[in-house]
Amino acid sequence: MVEGSASYPGQIMVREPTAEVPRPLVDSYGRVHRDLRISVTDRCNFRCTYCMPEEGMTWLPKGEVLTFEELERIARLMVERHGVRSIRLTGGEPTVRAHLPVLVAKLAALPVDLSLTTNGATLRSVAPALADAGLRRVNVSLDSLRPERFAQLTRRDQLDDVLDGIDAAVEAGLTPVKVNVVVVRGVNDDEIVDLARFGRDVGVTVRFIEWMPLDGGDAWTNEQVVTQAEIVERIGAIFPLEAMHRGSEPAERFRYQDGGGEVGVIPSVTRPFCEQCDRIRLTADGQLRSCLFSLEDHDLRTVLRSGGTDDALSTAIEACVGAKWAGHAINQVQFVKPRRSMSQIGG
Ligand code: SAM
Repeated sequence: MVEGSASYPGQIMVREPTAEVPRPLVDSYGRVHRDLRISVTDRCNFRCTYCMPEEGMTWLPKGEVLTFEELERIARLMVERHGVRSIRLTGGEPTVRAHLPVLVAKLAALPVDLSLTTNGATLRSVAPALADAGLRRVNVSLDSLRPERFAQLTRRDQLDDVLDGIDAAVEAGLTPVKVNVVVVRGVNDDEIVDLARFGRDVGVTVRFIEWMPLDGGDAWTNEQVVTQAEIVERIGAIFPLEAMHRGSEPAERFRYQDGGGEVGVIPSVTRPFCEQCDRIRLTADGQLRSCLFSLEDHDLRTVLRSGGTDDALSTAIEACVGAKWAGHAINQVQFVKPRRSMSQIGG
């Protein structure tokens, strides 16, 4: 182990040994980037209130979205030359991209942990093909178990489809299935314990996410963020919990003391994991971002479409990682909200 540079005053970053690849993606704080999020589309079949406005979203023209061949080229370079080890497909809603299993098969040929984040609404029909193509596991978003509220929150009346989709994912072997819940005070925070109970009953790990200022509008307020401390306290009062080792995941993990599995919280607002962050994100239109909250994109699409070599792509990728900041500054005066919503960046 080698000591790296400080990321915040008084804090020492421990630099991990770099993977044996020609050009590992190490930023100026010593963080090694091995996790790539690929948004395959900015379009979504839901309109979750905490994520995007009901009307007025403008979708990318088809020609601006990277093709499967372009995505495969970037992914292969990231894996073989730069040491990326996990790839998560996201969106928008990734399952609305036509022929998604074809892309999955291309990426599954790479030595990576390949997963997908989805709202689950179409999993009953697509899970078997995705599993056959080589997808390993899925995260399904589910923010309410009450049909009326679910319909209000997502602006779609499809709770049954999502619940059935979770079953379909388990049946297709896309395990472990994780369920993501964004908690918004006054919207669904009274369901925290119900959703935790659901996870225990169905045998899936539920991960509660603190609401981030990425709604593409002005909906987010600090007062509506339900903190990790509060989430853990509410669940623990009914199902006693004990903390587990966090590892390199963004989720802080807790074990049910009665052996009922585990639950996680992603405290992006109150306890951000920026010092351990090892991820980079590729938007559907080929812009590379080193942080969800980046204000700057690094344009890989232009490099790709102007006949750029792999070296030129690597230079752009390394420039993006090299410019990564120490951490986002939600709750600080200098924080500037990104122009794009979570669905446009790729959550
Ligand atoms: N459509 C897919 C889905 O529903 O999972 C993938 C894209 S979605 C943007 C990815 C994740 O981001 C979902 O779990 C969603 O709940 C979460 N998300 C969206 N907006 C968020 C926000 N403002 N704060 C925290 N999480 C958010």
